[in-house]
Amino acid sequence: MELSKRQEEIVEIVKANGPITGENIAEKLHLTRATLRPDLAILTMAGFLDARPRVGYFFTGKTGSELLTEKIKKFKVHEYQSIPIVVKESVSVYDAISTMFLEDVGTLFVVDQKSYLSGVVSRKDLLRATIGQKDLNQLPVHIIMTRMPNITVCKKEDLLIDVAKLLIEKQIDGVPVVKDSDGGFEVTGRITKSTITKVFVELTADER
Ligand code: ADP
Repeated sequence: MELSKRQEEIVEIVKANGPITGENIAEKLHLTRATLRPDLAILTMAGFLDARPRVGYFFTGKTGSELLTEKIKKFKVHEYQSIPIVVKESVSVYDAISTMFLEDVGTLFVVDQKSYLSGVVSRKDLLRATIGQKDLNQLPVHIIMTRMPNITVCKKEDLLIDVAKLLIEKQIDGVPVVKDSDGGFEVTGRITKSTITKVFVELTADER
């Protein structure tokens, strides 16, 4: 986050004199304590300063990028996951393509008869299937999908940054969020490259 000129001045004063009371910071800046209150609140909330009752403000020693890293490392999958689009193994490639358009997603998760995750179908998987001479209405998705146990998954308590790393490492667009259910994975959500892009943009909207 970018600090205002006054906020920078406050940080410098606290660095040099901390612990220091709000009253004393205000005196040094020839301002009233009330005028400084919003700036002190922002600096404390953002983690630049810490405040102890009856002691005053002191500098945490953390740089802006360290604070940003700390913040990103707190983002959990369940806070950002979106609704998964799921199809059955028996669904035809033709219907899977229609579902992809209707639901406006790039990845479909495939489930077996018990509704457990059994595979993933991407846009290119479907494109590849259309190149052949096969009748797309007769070809079930389970023939062309990437199947378990080769599916990369995540859990709702996982860190979003770790899922972002998985997307890069595995060169995939999305992963299902799953819950262990005896003998399989229940699909409860999805994290995609779009999720990560949105969070990236939101990080700047947070600046106040
Ligand atoms: P596209 O193939 O449209 O570029 P992806 O990069 O997501 O989309 O998919 C690349 C390949 O990886 C596809 O064959 C797909 O089935 C597979 N895939 C996609 N997501 C996963 C996942 N979470 N786990 C394992 N394989 C996946």
